Amino acid sequence: MENSLDAGATQVDVRLGGGGLDLVEVSDDGSGMSPADMALAIERHATSKLPNEAIEEVASFGFRGEALPSIASVARFTLDSRVRGSDGWRLEVDHGARISEGPAALPPGTRVRVEGLFAKVPARRKFLRSPRAEYAACLDTVRRLAMARPDVAFTLDHDGRRILSLAPVALPARVASILDHGLAEHGLPIDLQRGEVRLGGVVSLPTFTRGAADQQYLFVNGRPVKDRLLVGALRAAYQDLIARERSPIVALFLDLPGKEIDINVHPAKTEVRFADPQGVRGLIVGGLRSALDQAGH
Ligand code: ADP
Ligand code: MG
Repeated sequence: MENSLDAGATQVDVRLGGGGLDLVEVSDDGSGMSPADMALAIERHATSKLPNEAIEEVASFGFRGEALPSIASVARFTLDSRVRGSDGWRLEVDHGARISEGPAALPPGTRVRVEGLFAKVPARRKFLRSPRAEYAACLDTVRRLAMARPDVAFTLDHDGRRILSLAPVALPARVASILDHGLAEHGLPIDLQRGEVRLGGVVSLPTFTRGAADQQYLFVNGRPVKDRLLVGALRAAYQDLIARERSPIVALFLDLPGKEIDINVHPAKTEVRFADPQGVRGLIVGGLRSALDQAGH
């Protein structure tokens, strides 16, 4: 999905089978790849995204060139792609071995199909949970990326059923369609600025919480993250306002200059290193505290 967004897609369609264990397929209407670029894309450390600028200025999701070759080495992998104005091409890889390639019929864009993930790699397979749990993780990922890019249309199908269908909209509408609907009534809009750092979005009032933290959507410079510092700051902001085992529902977007962060810490890029962690924490705890205060909490 990140590759699709990097390729300028306006529509991203995800199909899952068996929670993703049987099938994960992502189709997009992005730039597509030439047959030569497709061959390169499944080579390790081949990326078209290494920036001329400093690494911290990278605007794309990818920049390691690891996803496609890694996936292609542990599953049955079919890559279809077509650049607008050219013919489509298909490349099939089975556990790292190229088994076939040839012309393919598809609209401009790319379709990546992954079948039987880890099925023949028992050492990895045992780290996969039940189809149900893996499905939940996939849904979570789709939701987070959909919230990061409200301008893009997304669909999600699981075992032939349409789960999500999201048209391009403005951010508040996308947030509303993904988060708990009660937030319309029990949410508090946030828009704070401290120096070059901005914090925007919506958080739920202390009276509207959940037992799990699965509705905390956090973004740093447009990327979904699950960063510990941010989660901790959020917890601190609500401390004494909600019971320990409860969590607020939030969609928070933190934007700061590229030099203030290092996204590269975690391979899945969900952890961030901040140049000024205390400043970030202070903005979140202090900012949310006073917003909740003013709202009468
Ligand atoms: P990275 O995203 O880190 O560059 P990937 O292994 O995810 O590495 O992808 C390798 C390369 O394949 C990308 O740099 C890009 O050039 C190309 N690519 C992958 N997916 C797509 C896509 N959906 N549309 C267009 N190009 C793609
Ligand atoms: Mg990538």
